[in-house]
Amino acid sequence: METEKKPELLSLTPDELRASLVSLGEPAYRATQLFTQLHRGLSPDEMTNIGKATKELLQKNFSYHLPGIERKLVSKLDGTVKYLFSLADGACVESVVMKYEHGNTICISSQVGCRMGCKFCASTIGGKIRDLTAGELLGQVIAAARDTGERIGGIVLMGIGEPLDNYDNVLKFLHLVNEPDGICIGYRHISLSTCGLVDKIKKLQAEDLPITLSISLHAPDDETRNEIMPINRRYGVSELLDACRDYFRATGRRISFEYTLIAGKNDSVSQAEKLASVLNSHLRSKTETMPIHVNLIPVNEVKESGFTSADRKSVAAFAKTLESRGIRATVRRKLGADINASCGQLRKSVLEEKKA
Ligand code: SAH
Repeated sequence: METEKKPELLSLTPDELRASLVSLGEPAYRATQLFTQLHRGLSPDEMTNIGKATKELLQKNFSYHLPGIERKLVSKLDGTVKYLFSLADGACVESVVMKYEHGNTICISSQVGCRMGCKFCASTIGGKIRDLTAGELLGQVIAAARDTGERIGGIVLMGIGEPLDNYDNVLKFLHLVNEPDGICIGYRHISLSTCGLVDKIKKLQAEDLPITLSISLHAPDDETRNEIMPINRRYGVSELLDACRDYFRATGRRISFEYTLIAGKNDSVSQAEKLASVLNSHLRSKTETMPIHVNLIPVNEVKESGFTSADRKSVAAFAKTLESRGIRATVRRKLGADINASCGQLRKSVLEEKKA
């Protein structure tokens, strides 16, 4: 179909947009004008400073779709807003806007579904349907800013999907969102979370972008990690932590670790001791004291997984054990607890509802 081949307006860099427009006979300044307005959330039809002929030319030569709001849930507890966005082909992904004292941060999805197969995660149950384009990644930020009417100052790539499994589009998105004529969010206000695709972590390191890397570790040893995260059979704990050390040495950016606590699986004090020991031995030496931060998250119970959440006592004991070994640990404040804000669960329940 011809429409599928049209370049997506929201995926284009300023240079790409300029080149396309000039080749269609438009003046070069039009590109900046368009780029800025598109990134502010206006559709070409809503723009008042371009004429009818240009609007028709855009419609004929490009595609444009801002994610539509399929569902929206607002937490009464803390104002967290969760969106189920629909994309041009009807696929849905989730984004969450979190309100902090220092501003709004959005958590966005990188793929429709996921193929990483982590046993505790709702997003991976139906597998991966497809990657999101750079414009769809960006569209979540634009649509949420437009809907809330507030500036979004930070982004975490921690929603549905594995961002490093959609590397090229995610990288293009990082550049787009940093553009001075667009949303202009600094790289330091962007975090990318990965289950540990070591080859891609090395590639990202070479891009030299000062984003924050967050590693979903969830276990201190290969035996436990293999059981809950299939990716570990490809890249084991040691290899992953060595890649983290290299990333830190090269970029100077702190890395944080996510550790979701599952009762009876990875939440014992001896596992906390083991975790402290592998982190210290891989990431620190006598001359180097890399700051290490572990976010502890009691697992959100997904019925298919059969896992239950660690109780308060073991969470506290786990945190204390890490702290006593020089590792900062925070128990993640659960935002939007009343709206099921963690990733994958809303999309999954709406899919089930539609099937029924
Ligand atoms: N694929 C990326 C980003 C998406 S998942 C990654 O693995 O990091 C975002 C975070 O939520 C990850 O740390 C993931 O392990 C965690 N997560 C997934 N399901 C969860 C659940 N049921 N309870 C708690 N954390 C979960």
